[in-house]
Amino acid sequence: MTITPTIEAAGAPGVLEKVPLERYVAPERPSLVGLSRAALAEALGGIGVPERERKMRVQQLWHWLYVRGVTDFDAMSSVSKVLRAELARHFTLDRPEVAAEQISVDGTRKWLLTLPGEHPGEKPHLVECVYIPETDRGTLCVSSQVGCTLNCSFCHTGTQRLVRNLTPGEIVGQIMVARDRLGDWLAAAPAKGEGERKRLVSNIVMMGMGEPLYNFEAVRDALLVASDGDGLSLSRRRITLSTSGVVPQIARAGAEIGTMLAISLHAVRDELRDELVPLNRKYPIKELLDACRNYPGLSNARRITFEYVMLKDVNDSIADAKALVRLLKGIPAKINLIPFNPWPGSRYECSDWEQIEKFSQVVFDAGYASPVRTPRGRDILAACGQLKSATEKLSVRERMALRAMAMTD
Ligand code: SAH
Ligand code: SF4
Repeated sequence: MTITPTIEAAGAPGVLEKVPLERYVAPERPSLVGLSRAALAEALGGIGVPERERKMRVQQLWHWLYVRGVTDFDAMSSVSKVLRAELARHFTLDRPEVAAEQISVDGTRKWLLTLPGEHPGEKPHLVECVYIPETDRGTLCVSSQVGCTLNCSFCHTGTQRLVRNLTPGEIVGQIMVARDRLGDWLAAAPAKGEGERKRLVSNIVMMGMGEPLYNFEAVRDALLVASDGDGLSLSRRRITLSTSGVVPQIARAGAEIGTMLAISLHAVRDELRDELVPLNRKYPIKELLDACRNYPGLSNARRITFEYVMLKDVNDSIADAKALVRLLKGIPAKINLIPFNPWPGSRYECSDWEQIEKFSQVVFDAGYASPVRTPRGRDILAACGQLKSATEKLSVRERMALRAMAMTD
């Protein structure tokens, strides 16, 4: 596959972005998962449902799909038998297929999902979706692309060559798969009080494989379905979209999606950020922070999360910590220090724990609460930046190296 360098800054040769070469080709019988209400009404019109009935039918389908999570049209008891048969003749309720499930010692679950390739006979693509249970919430880490068009130097996903944008159905489908596997749908006849039962999947982070703002329309449409109060009902305040800094799309995300925002900052100087997050050569730190300041609805209760991966002797000095605090002054912000998750062939090491603590103390003293998060699911390679589908298989040697790394904390 050809990789097109779109920008080569002087003195910093290398690929900034890859081009997504693969296209999604819809199957003959497409799935209804992920369609907006308008698209669903149109699909119904296409199979002869009269206009005057469509709104009501859409409401019924929406409930069966996104509240009950049915996988078979026959379970839709409020829909006439004739229409159920007609729907089944033209559509499916398919979500991505689970190729493998791994459960970490800490309860984190990782699902490997298969997605169709562009060409007949081609091996299916694999993406990963991770569920992280915590005492007060359950967070699902969702992918937006197979691979990623960007090449952050510390990220395993960025090394994957093949890139395909996920469809809204494939993005919403990850939430449906998680609810399927965790038994997290409302029962057909909920017991008294069951309607208010706490959902296992309560939060979504767009922090899996891919750069969500490089697949803007699909991510937007999927998140609008996910946040619909009559369906999956995940409020926008419980959805976080993480970006490496696609500046022109940040304002659009604020206006058209309105979820919480996380920025993968990782460095306080352009020179270093150019190396860690090459997209910085296109959209440098100042422009990125200006876009953050203008993100709608910011307040102390609605802050932007700044992610900062801790790389030994690269970005983890006390001077960096002080500069970070200065840089974010005036922006309602949270800081997330992420211990670097190593992967085979990675050229960085995670900062020493003492250094992370010192760094974190500076951040804490500046008024930011609990800046370090314990890495989750390392033993199953489910932590940030470790996601890379088995389309590019690891050698036995690499697997052994990984297992050794996972044991070292
Ligand atoms: N592409 C988006 C979202 C997916 S990456 C983005 O970059 O924001 C999710 C988070 O994991 C980002 O903050 C990313 O910088 C971080 N990350 C990537 N590789 C990592 C690694 N090896 N160790 C720790 N964090 C990593
Ligand atoms: Fe892509 Fe995010 Fe990884 Fe960078 S950190 S390569 S943007 S997935």
